[in-house]
Amino acid sequence: MRNFGIVIHGGAGNILRETLPPALESQYRRKLSEAVSAGYALLEQGGNSLDAVIASIMVLEDSPLFNAGKGAVLNAAGACELDASVMNGRTLEAGAVAGLHHIRNPIRLARDIMEKSAHVMMVGDGAEIFARGLGYEIVPNEYFQTAFRQRQLAEAKRLEQERAQGPRPTPAGSERVTFVTVDDNHFLRETIFGTVGAAALDGQGNLAAGTSTGGMTNKQFGRVGDSPIIGAGTYADNATAAVSCTGHGEYFIRAGVAHAVCSLMEYQGLTLGEAAATAIRKVNKLGGTGGLIAIDAKGNVALPFSTAGMYRGYRTARQSEVIEIFGNAR
Ligand code: ASP
Repeated sequence: MRNFGIVIHGGAGNILRETLPPALESQYRRKLSEAVSAGYALLEQGGNSLDAVIASIMVLEDSPLFNAGKGAVLNAAGACELDASVMNGRTLEAGAVAGLHHIRNPIRLARDIMEKSAHVMMVGDGAEIFARGLGYEIVPNEYFQTAFRQRQLAEAKRLEQERAQGPRPTPAGSERVTFVTVDDNHFLRETIFGTVGAAALDGQGNLAAGTSTGGMTNKQFGRVGDSPIIGAGTYADNATAAVSCTGHGEYFIRAGVAHAVCSLMEYQGLTLGEAAATAIRKVNKLGGTGGLIAIDAKGNVALPFSTAGMYRGYRTARQSEVIEIFGNAR
């Protein structure tokens, strides 16, 4: 029997066993499992990899636990601004959206742009007008916003302000004064990933990948990260692999990570695992952190990351479900 399977992520970041309360960890595990199952069930019934990727991602977009769709992070103006992309590894067709404010499931619109428009990428109002034309429900931006993300934004703004002011002199007689250091900045960046993605191989040997995100907390209005950029956050090619990334998007764009994985396999003959690890090392060299999930044309999976943890899971016809959160599988 031909192998098939799906691999997903719910974001990489400073996710530590010590700081993730057990009850919340269970919620994450359940939702990741639900997302794997949603995609895998379709593959098992003979469905295609594109449908499986969309089904898994929609489960995560609809959950407030992840930084995509409902529960997305807030930009500096206090709004959710959503990006997503999808790619069909059989045809190398792709669709992407950026800067959405009112579309409940951005990944669906990315697919419709791929299949129902003459374009690969549409942004902002134009993308939403296109969605209206297709009969999409338009939701208020408040639908995506949660109290947790509002607190996260307030904290990010506080740290940003402290950084701008620079270290304060130690008051006389005080021995312990907390400064915001480069490390804190790093910590802040690391805590804010949480993008979702999926990559699948179906029983016909077709690969597909997709990614959906709210971007990064306190991002400037109009900022676009790697997630909707084909070749950076998402790539799929039947000849090699399907890839979805998460991490500090600016670095993933500069390193062209998702396409790099496929190129290293195609032109250098690397295995999926070698190619994925090489691409993540390149991000580190530039000064960024993050991770990716990938599946190749044989159903091998790779899930490297350079952060403390990454919400992740997979299932293939030859491997029962695996759900993991914390580091150890670098
Ligand atoms: N890569 C995403 C971005 O930079 C963030 C994430 O992975 O959570 O927009």
